[in-house]
Amino acid sequence: MIVAANFKTNKTRTQTREYMDEVNRFIHLEKIRCEVIVFPPLTALDSFMGEVTLGVQNAYAVEKGAFTGEVGTEQLDEFGIQTILIGHSERRHVLGESQEEIAHKFNYFKELGYKIVYCVGEKVETREAGQEALMAYINAQLVGIDLEYSNLVIAYEPVWAIGTGLVPSNEDIRSIHADLRAKSSRPLLYGGSVKLGNMDEIVSIENVDGVLVGGASLYAQSFCQMIKIAEDKI
Ligand code: PEP
Repeated sequence: MIVAANFKTNKTRTQTREYMDEVNRFIHLEKIRCEVIVFPPLTALDSFMGEVTLGVQNAYAVEKGAFTGEVGTEQLDEFGIQTILIGHSERRHVLGESQEEIAHKFNYFKELGYKIVYCVGEKVETREAGQEALMAYINAQLVGIDLEYSNLVIAYEPVWAIGTGLVPSNEDIRSIHADLRAKSSRPLLYGGSVKLGNMDEIVSIENVDGVLVGGASLYAQSFCQMIKIAEDKI
């Protein structure tokens, strides 16, 4: 099981350090075997002791250079970061990353051997158009992506479920994860309004190998409880 936290544009450097200390302590004390990944904002990247894997929410497909406002691998190397989130709906729909740009980024970081948590997910109008339209939309988000890359993790995150409190039915999650499983043998995460109250149900669904959590990951204590629920499914 993989349990990942996406802080988005939340938490300071100090708050992130406190959070990492608490989660790392919990993992050590409870002898957690789940893989736990935290994606803090860029300003909070640092070196942390412990088992939590530190990932980056975004980076530019370059080592270094003249790319104002971006970070490249030289900056990530300083903190030993080898994990990146690519294709998140906010980067696609708010920041306007095209599939071509996303695939380019994917291939750049794949060549460097990064663990890539690659997100796909439909908007509500696509969901309402039925299963065929939905899978066509998701397939378009997989163009240019090596689905058997050995360090790939796929996260299915319906856009309409992110930060809204809405979650697809268990059957809908099961069905999409079955379709994704037919395309890739890599771990499949579900993301979109996962919280302590629905964690057990979601990680019990067939082909759900873990979760990507936004809002509910911000509280270390409840995130630790979510990790424990995932651990009990191993
Ligand atoms: C996310 O942004 O990846 C996410 C799943 O957010 P939330 O858990 O807040 O819906």
